[in-house]
Amino acid sequence: MKRKEKVLKIISVLKKRYPEIKCMLKYKSGYELMIAGRLSSQCKDERVNMVTRELFAKYKTLESFANAKVEEIEEIIKPCGLFRMKARDIIGSCAMIIKDFGGELPSDIETLQKLPGIGRKTANLIIGDVFKKPSVVCDTHCIRIMNRVGICKTTAPTKVEKELRLLLPPEESTDFCHRLVFFGREVCVARKPRCLTCELSIYCDKLL
Ligand code: SF4
Repeated sequence: MKRKEKVLKIISVLKKRYPEIKCMLKYKSGYELMIAGRLSSQCKDERVNMVTRELFAKYKTLESFANAKVEEIEEIIKPCGLFRMKARDIIGSCAMIIKDFGGELPSDIETLQKLPGIGRKTANLIIGDVFKKPSVVCDTHCIRIMNRVGICKTTAPTKVEKELRLLLPPEESTDFCHRLVFFGREVCVARKPRCLTCELSIYCDKLL
């Protein structure tokens, strides 16, 4: 089966399994997703959501983050790890949005990556969820599953993104990546994938 054809089958299976899908991170505005995305580096989404509940209750605007005391942010976000760097990045990003972008979150991947600590993965997340443009979030689940099923043969995130952008229908790509996160947690888990009960098994190279 050709890769494009296989991707369409996988999309269809995952849509049936997860008809309604959304980002695991909780946020109410674009900059909140940016902050949650920064905190999610090397930290589970559940923990990020616990931390941002307190963080977003205390700091309610972009300006309040830009003017926050770094030690106070550090204290709240400590459970997410790498807290000193993340606190500086959060304050720096919010200040940069105000100073350089007129208070508006940039709406393209390249400019978003100019914000401190914002990499391609979080930039794609913002592009897809905030600006509703086609995005490909290449996180650990996406890379693992795409390699196992035989859609990609590389673990380099930028290469996986490039290949998926060529294969995925643009209108499906953002939700496809969200679905892979759930599927990667529930079925195609990292250590012992549940292949015997997996709906993708007939398309999966790992079992061929
Ligand atoms: S068959 Fe196994 S390896 Fe392939 S997608 Fe399903 S769980 Fe993952």
